[in-house]
Amino acid sequence: MIYTDTRDKKVKVDFKTAVMGGMNPKTGGLYIPVEFPKLAPSFLNRTPSPSFRDIAYEMAKPYVEGEIPDADLQSIIQDAYPFMPQVVPIDPVTYVLELFHGPTCAFKDFGARFMARVMSYFNRGEDGNLHILVATSGDTGSAVGSAFHNVPGIDVTILYPDGKISPLQEKQLSTFDGNVRALKVKGTFDDCQKLVKTAFTDEDLRKKFRLSSANSINIARLLPQSFYYMYSSLVVSDRVPHDSKIDNPAIIAVVPSGNFGNLTSGLIAREMGAPIAGFVAATNSNHTVPDWIATGEYNARPSVATLSNAMDVGAPSNYERIVAMYSLEQVRSLFASYWTDDEGTLKAIADCNLKTGYIIDPHGAVGWKAWDDLRHGAMAKLMEGKEDVDINKVGLTANVPAWAEYVTSGKAVGICLETAHPAKFGSTVQKAIGREPSMPDRLEKVMALPDRAIPMSKEYEPFKEWLVANL
Ligand SMILES: *Cc1c(COP(=O)(O)O)cnc(C)c1O
Repeated sequence: MIYTDTRDKKVKVDFKTAVMGGMNPKTGGLYIPVEFPKLAPSFLNRTPSPSFRDIAYEMAKPYVEGEIPDADLQSIIQDAYPFMPQVVPIDPVTYVLELFHGPTCAFKDFGARFMARVMSYFNRGEDGNLHILVATSGDTGSAVGSAFHNVPGIDVTILYPDGKISPLQEKQLSTFDGNVRALKVKGTFDDCQKLVKTAFTDEDLRKKFRLSSANSINIARLLPQSFYYMYSSLVVSDRVPHDSKIDNPAIIAVVPSGNFGNLTSGLIAREMGAPIAGFVAATNSNHTVPDWIATGEYNARPSVATLSNAMDVGAPSNYERIVAMYSLEQVRSLFASYWTDDEGTLKAIADCNLKTGYIIDPHGAVGWKAWDDLRHGAMAKLMEGKEDVDINKVGLTANVPAWAEYVTSGKAVGICLETAHPAKFGSTVQKAIGREPSMPDRLEKVMALPDRAIPMSKEYEPFKEWLVANL
């Protein structure tokens, strides 16, 4: 597969260059495949629908063709996914897609674990280890640390702001041994990022070590996230005739979004043949993308802190990929978009529990609420032109997607992505429903491990000295 650049269509690189580089240093643009090959109808129409790993293999194959042999791709996928997404029906037309069954209990495991193994594969012929530096404000660090833990040929150093992440998040990223180290920096997330950026541009350091990042914009994190859209939409297609007996339903993927990587992966799955009619782009008070869809103007802004903090992104990087793939008109016909604030998020956790018995986390709750509102009147009002179109008010934005009539005629089925386990946000859930969700074993275990984080100054020199002495 050839990869091009969102900012310069003349750029042509292979998969290895795109993965190892992360982004194009010359343009600052993001890599994107030049095409999205469709899976064969014989594969898509198989009954029962193919397994998650078979889907992962078939979908990944064209993107690594000629660079990773089939047998190696098989082992990368087997090793990356000892767990699976789960499709859980919570009412006759709503399925929750649980993406938290990986080691860190959040969907980022799907992307990070695939990327780690691909980087390790490409590093095999190289002389010496590849050193990954990653600054984190919480969740990315644990997914990346866990994904690379014990992966051969790669060392990881995670930098996080001391005292500014939750105790559970801190445990999740500071208790690794071996090839993954954590530095607790006396400073802010921005200070951590600055240390990493300075290290990347330090010629002297780069002469000594091969440095790389594990950024969320890496194409090797984006592609594998498309696997679970394909998997869940095929499973749901199979189930609908039994569960709700709707003929030819429109399957809608409802995506709680921050940086819009997850939603972009959904677009890739749809291009490759996933039976998804459209998407709901749901955000918290960081509603840059819903505003763009409503007004046609894109205004990135500083992020604001919310209860769904992994979605606190004011300038979503993957916007650039979405506009490289589609025109605004196409986006408006494919997407409904919606945002809600913290009050709406708490109410959503409570309402979801009351109506369905399901305990949803604050991120998934933003999506569930969008889906619940739009099929209980908001879409109908929008179609009648009665919806308030003020972008500063919570709710649906004013575009009517091509699939809107399926919603009003009761022929739409939703797949609501649940991006994290609710126990990761126990106190917020407690506030909404009066009790904390139970902890999965793997979170309980990590809480009991000894903390190995190394204190670090926010100044560059001591950080560099530490790297030179310890890498
Ligand atoms: C990262 C994250 C999101 C947002 O995903 P994007 O790909 O950035 O849109 C949503 N929920 C959780 C729990 C996350 O960790």
